[in-house]
Amino acid sequence: MKDTLKHKGKRNRLAEIIAGKGVSDPGVLDAVRQVPRHLFMDSSFEDHAYQDKAFPIAAGQTISQPFTVAFQTELLEVAPGKKILEIGTGSGYQTAVLLEMKARVYTIERQLELFKRTSLFLPKLGYRPKKMIFGDGYKGLPEEAPFDGIIVTAGAPEVPKPLLAQLKIGGRLVIPVGEDTQIMTMFVRKSAKEFAKSEFGEFRFVPLLENKS
Ligand code: SAH
Repeated sequence: MKDTLKHKGKRNRLAEIIAGKGVSDPGVLDAVRQVPRHLFMDSSFEDHAYQDKAFPIAAGQTISQPFTVAFQTELLEVAPGKKILEIGTGSGYQTAVLLEMKARVYTIERQLELFKRTSLFLPKLGYRPKKMIFGDGYKGLPEEAPFDGIIVTAGAPEVPKPLLAQLKIGGRLVIPVGEDTQIMTMFVRKSAKEFAKSEFGEFRFVPLLENKS
């Protein structure tokens, strides 16, 4: 597990590319410069790590495109100490970005092999979520609710009601909604019963699946 100046240089370039696509939150861009994405994928694919592309990881899943991670994170308005729930731990890259930004992170993965791998891997890099859970993110994490932010990193055919219910007032849910392609959607909780919805264009994710496997 090596991180070199060359890798760091590639990350600086990646952050510039992401900024060029419209992400401006300095904390997000800084996290992109810090997190060694090449260590989150198989070493033989290292060359792909700092291109702005999604890439296959274990169990038929993908590590999201860096721009997508940055874009979703910017929408979440992460700040130090904020309590964030992530659905779809996957490789742990998005988790690491949130942790670089000093959020308190809870993350759920439904795929056992990935859950085991990533739970061992993240602490090796010094990334320590508050909790990593093997479970079904459709249900959220009621015992730790409410959250300042909830981020879903798989395509949801519909918005899971429990996730809306687990937001603080003022909290944000960032979720790609749709079957084949998804519309990036944000819900801001205005009151117990009111949510403001905004949409941010098309993205493509692996599907959010029910139950664990
Ligand atoms: N955040 C990840 C993206 C991984 S792809 C990263 O940065 O690498 C989406 C992940 O969501 C996959 O690992 C998939 O297994 C997981 N997933 C799909 N449905 C889920 C559900 N209902 N609950 C929790 N995780 C789910």
